[in-house]
Amino acid sequence: MEFLTLTKTLKLLEEKNINLKKYLGQHFLIDRNCRDKTLSFADFNEKDTVVEIGPGFGALTDGFIEKVKEVYAFEIDPAFCEILKERFLPLGNFRLLQQDFLDTPAEWWDSMNGKVKVISNTPYYISSPIVFRILELRKNVELALLTVQKEVGERFTASPGSKNYGAISVLMSIYCHAKICYSLKRDVFFPKPEVSSVAVKIVPLENPKFNIVDERKFCEFLPLIFSFRRKKVPNVANKIFKADKKAFMKALERVNISPDERAENLPPGDIYKIFTIINPSS
Ligand code: SAM
Repeated sequence: MEFLTLTKTLKLLEEKNINLKKYLGQHFLIDRNCRDKTLSFADFNEKDTVVEIGPGFGALTDGFIEKVKEVYAFEIDPAFCEILKERFLPLGNFRLLQQDFLDTPAEWWDSMNGKVKVISNTPYYISSPIVFRILELRKNVELALLTVQKEVGERFTASPGSKNYGAISVLMSIYCHAKICYSLKRDVFFPKPEVSSVAVKIVPLENPKFNIVDERKFCEFLPLIFSFRRKKVPNVANKIFKADKKAFMKALERVNISPDERAENLPPGDIYKIFTIINPSS
């Protein structure tokens, strides 16, 4: 299929009289080598059902659509939907959903026949919500290959002790194997974004590392425990969760966590232990 270089992209924008919408994170991939390299990490094959978030003109789509069984593409901007229909509907395996990806109900995912691969050069304003949604839907997802802002990708994959380690790193590590597989320079996109990007490959684990009974409560707990990431955990527990400091320190001792520890250095398993101390029924 035809790859849209910068010149062709500009021509199409003019022909179709499209004004780009910054608030929708519209930056389009205009470098074919970079596109092909990024797609190589998804290992597409003829059995794959692919969900694409925000295809835009279809820069990624036209690199894989002929290799896979079917594509479900979520594009919120009607102007691009027209172009996508013209380009890909004739192929017969392209389904366009003109809607906000984040509004897709769980029933839609359950109606898919087997697990899907999710791909996106994500609109940066919703990169994290997209990842949270994929974590919720992980039983339906074989892998997700997402291009995100470099710093965001570093948070997804950070280890304890690193400055980027936080709530999302803990969740990723419990539910997935996540890896930065490729860096993309700013000038592979038009308009050029202010930040550079990385492609992150996320593969949900068959079983999470711990069985978390109340996932919603745990997700609410994580940003709170990391809100004072450099403070000693008993002080945070007391300040935020009103835990009795002495009793909390004793409970920490029982699970072999030093009272001098700080959230930023604790592995996900210890963060989870602290959650169960604060929420004994969870
Ligand atoms: N995939 C294209 C590419 O690589 O050239 C476009 C990527 S651009 C960074 C993000 C795309 O996501 C835009 O086409 C934008 O209109 C679309 N988009 C933004 N918010 C969306 C949402 N909530 N749901 C679905 N698509 C969205």
